[in-house]
Amino acid sequence: MRFLVTAGPTREPIDPVRYISNRSSGKMGYAIAEAALEAGHEVILISGPVKLDPPRDAKFVLVSTGDEMFDAAHRDADSCDVCVLCAAVADHKPAKISPVKIKKRTGNFSLELVPTRDILDSLGHRQDRQFLVVGFAAETNDMEQNALQKLRAKKCDIIVANDARLGMESDENELMILFRDGEMRKFSRAPKRILAHELVKIFLEFATKMFDKKNQMITERT
Ligand code: C5P
Repeated sequence: MRFLVTAGPTREPIDPVRYISNRSSGKMGYAIAEAALEAGHEVILISGPVKLDPPRDAKFVLVSTGDEMFDAAHRDADSCDVCVLCAAVADHKPAKISPVKIKKRTGNFSLELVPTRDILDSLGHRQDRQFLVVGFAAETNDMEQNALQKLRAKKCDIIVANDARLGMESDENELMILFRDGEMRKFSRAPKRILAHELVKIFLEFATKMFDKKNQMITERT
């Protein structure tokens, strides 16, 4: 199968020297890309700026802003079977990017922010999509409730929830996996590399079920 994985943070420029970003390390997304490659799949890895080496056998697309990641993901999604959207895309970006460095001011200063486009939401809502859509939910509270709400609102097939305080920059994570059909699985704290292999197996199992069902429906109709 062919995987599309988004990973890492995005940078939303304010002026030529400043940006808004977050602490995402990209480790979980890169581990999933590696695990999928090791299992013999093709991988397109769309990454924001991180301090990791891209897996040698992946098609690697380096992006900076959420808009660039959105365009790259939409360009490649239709050629993939499984889209794993692991990136920590900024929720907002500056309404205007100043072409020159904003001068230091003495008083308070506010910046107008506008929402970025949500890649997971737009791929999840694609009519007749032929690919599995997996989202991530980094939460600090009410994990199950928030993840379930995301699963429904963004119309994805699977949501992988984790505690943002544990998983953001660490080599380890603890996961709760919620499926569209109501199933739930939990993984206790383990290295991201190990968890990634389990996740790839789960995504394949679900994708195979989804594609078998679709093929069966097509055969019944014809
Ligand atoms: O709603 P929230 O941002 O917490 O959802 C997280 C999930 O949505 C992650 O899978 C993330 O990659 C995805 N996302 C996205 N595009 C955005 C914001 C979030 O794909 N602009």
